[in-house]
Amino acid sequence: MDLISAINIAITITIFFIGITILFSSHKKISNIIFFIICFFFSFWSITDFLTDIPKFSLDILLLLSKLTFVGPIIIPALFLYFSLIFPISRREINLVHRLFIFIIPAIFLVSLPTNLIIRKIFILEPSEIYLSLGWRTGFESGPLYPFLILYAIIFLTIALVILGKKFFELKGVYRSQLKYILIGFSLTIIFSVFFGSVLPVFFNIYIFSKLSLISIIFVIFTTALAITKYHLFNIKIILSEILIGIIAILLLIQTLTSKYTSSKIINGGIFILFCLFGYYLIRATIKEITLREEVDRLSKMKSEFLSIASHQLCTPLTAVKGYISMILEGTYGKVSEKQRKPLENVYASNERLIKLVNDLLNISRLEAGRVEFNFEPTSLLEMVEGVVNELKINAEKKGLYLRIVKPSQKLPQIMADKDKLRQAILNIVDNGIKYTQQGGIEIRLNLEDEKIKIAIADTGEGITQEEIDKLFEIFSRASAGMQTYTAGAGIGLYVAKKFVEAHGGRIWVKSPGKGKGSTFYIELPININNKIKI
Ligand code: ADP
Repeated sequence: MDLISAINIAITITIFFIGITILFSSHKKISNIIFFIICFFFSFWSITDFLTDIPKFSLDILLLLSKLTFVGPIIIPALFLYFSLIFPISRREINLVHRLFIFIIPAIFLVSLPTNLIIRKIFILEPSEIYLSLGWRTGFESGPLYPFLILYAIIFLTIALVILGKKFFELKGVYRSQLKYILIGFSLTIIFSVFFGSVLPVFFNIYIFSKLSLISIIFVIFTTALAITKYHLFNIKIILSEILIGIIAILLLIQTLTSKYTSSKIINGGIFILFCLFGYYLIRATIKEITLREEVDRLSKMKSEFLSIASHQLCTPLTAVKGYISMILEGTYGKVSEKQRKPLENVYASNERLIKLVNDLLNISRLEAGRVEFNFEPTSLLEMVEGVVNELKINAEKKGLYLRIVKPSQKLPQIMADKDKLRQAILNIVDNGIKYTQQGGIEIRLNLEDEKIKIAIADTGEGITQEEIDKLFEIFSRASAGMQTYTAGAGIGLYVAKKFVEAHGGRIWVKSPGKGKGSTFYIELPININNKIKI
């Protein structure tokens, strides 16, 4: 087998696989089915065409093969016309009359194919005549219907192109770009087939490439496939696996065709078939995986959007509640009796928790969507920690816990930080310390170690086991202390803290000697960081 035939077969197999890929991307859509049928008949056309060129066959077989070669050209123009009507959307209803009109003509040609109305007879060309048939070895004498077949193909394809072109100018958005793809592919196909089939042979006497003119249809097939799947299904992974499988399949086929003995032909043929089956399942699995991933992506985007909208909507009323309760407590609306004060303070505290939770949710949705902006400015960590301690002191006092800062021995330099975000991270850790400690208290140490500031937040609380530590900073992760003591938590505080600390180029981790023995959380931040870190 020569190189040109090998390329021919490779592309034919690729086209067939593209057809299957599209069919499985959605086998319920009529445009996908039509596209698959087009690919199928095209492959059939190309293969029968290839076979008619094998001189070993008897004239009878060659006649049969030549007739079969016409099945593709008869069916494809009608299918393409139908496709142009329905893709990407049909602009008016296609009724039975339209369908009959489209498919009756090819049906007539198909019926007349076995007679000698299209092909009268075939003959094997003398080697000296081969160039006349643009490189093919088998020639045929055409019947009376043959010119009409050519006319039909030209007219149908032209109408289809006009319809697609009209839609291109009238439709907008995605539809328009889908049509653009098809039209580009079509133009490429025409340019290449004219170049290989006419320009090279007629003007330059180069015939060997004329066989490539048929398979230049790959361009329109490929761009149409891109258009149908709105160009995302056809990602590089599928294309690569298709190409690889195509090449191996061709090698196996060549090996089968060139085997000397029948037994090795059968074995190689068997391997070829098995490989094709394997290739089919492999590509199907790849497509499935990609579709699944796209679905997961879509759902995760929806979830993030939902989180973002829901938390925004929740924020406003919660802030209003906070404002009013604090005004009531301050006596703006009259004196508050001691009996009323306690429940009001409880409402205030619960509301604060809700605000924190909503803020965390908001942060998560922003983090996941990559929409968190960091504004870095010179910041004193000691002041920040003191601020957090002041805010949480009341909570610690209520539980009878100490909450203290051990000041560093030397003066700490300022670091570049986003004040709100870093504060939120430290607050989440200290707040956890208070939540999960029943006796003793929390001690915060700040230290300067090798160009880094290390904050250690040690509590005498419930402790964490090694197993729990491994998963602690993951989103929605809750360890036993959380489940038992503070059941209202959502397991996002540490996740947000970790993300924010990492955005500052820092590290966060925890150590605990075990259950009931307290735990120490560490935050380590470099003094010099790149201001433009973004996550
Ligand atoms: P939440 O506290 O809302 O559950 P976090 O992400 O803040 O979410 O914490 C995750 C889990 O880590 C908690 O459920 C808890 O089991 C555990 N944890 C966090 N901080 C401490 C601590 N200081 N001592 C013991 N366990 C802790």
